[in-house]
Amino acid sequence: MKTSLSALLDLVLPRVCVVCGRPLLPRERHLCTECLSDLPETRYAPLDHNPMADRFNARIDPEEYEPYAYAAALFHYRADSGYKKISQALKYHRDFAAGRCFARMLGARLAASPLYADVDLVVPVPLHWTRHWRRGYNQASVVAREVARALSAPRAERLLRRCRRTRSQTRLSVAAKAANVSGAFALRRDPAPPARHILLVDDVFTTGATLAACHKALRRHYGPQVRISVATLAAVGE
Ligand SMILES: [Zn+2]
Repeated sequence: MKTSLSALLDLVLPRVCVVCGRPLLPRERHLCTECLSDLPETRYAPLDHNPMADRFNARIDPEEYEPYAYAAALFHYRADSGYKKISQALKYHRDFAAGRCFARMLGARLAASPLYADVDLVVPVPLHWTRHWRRGYNQASVVAREVARALSAPRAERLLRRCRRTRSQTRLSVAAKAANVSGAFALRRDPAPPARHILLVDDVFTTGATLAACHKALRRHYGPQVRISVATLAAVGE
């Protein structure tokens, strides 16, 4: 009965592969088998040093001793590849089911890595409230919710605040991106939960400027001992 109902639904609302647009078979979810097997996974989660982590750590002011930030993404984001549609589906097309599905995959990769076993706080990168209000949701929160669940860690949805609007990062140079978001984040005045290893979560890692600005706001409050790592659905480059 359930199968025939979903078969009927497929006729009315055909489900298609997020990446290639081909109709999905009944057992396929969001990606066809071919696109799923070709998903360009980064496999960064088990590696303490990887290209994304090295790029991110290079952005952080090494003023005092602080633990190396781990970093992982589920897949490589390339402008000329159909896989960028996975993050676009969540960010622009309100495809929450697909967003949650890939966020769960990211969560599973992190949960399988000993590096993230001690994560005790998951923090999504916030949108400015005007953008959040217009879009109706924060795509980073959708990812953070599944990651927190996979790691059995609490999520601090409102810990960080975007205190000023920033221009869209898409068309800016690397230096302009850093200047654009520098000082754009702050902690709310509410008491911040204690933590030893914080995981900052966003949808896409581009230059790391936004995550580094969030990192700075958290570091200011939590001091040099706390590890602040990052995880995203997709990572640009490499
Ligand atoms: Zn496909």
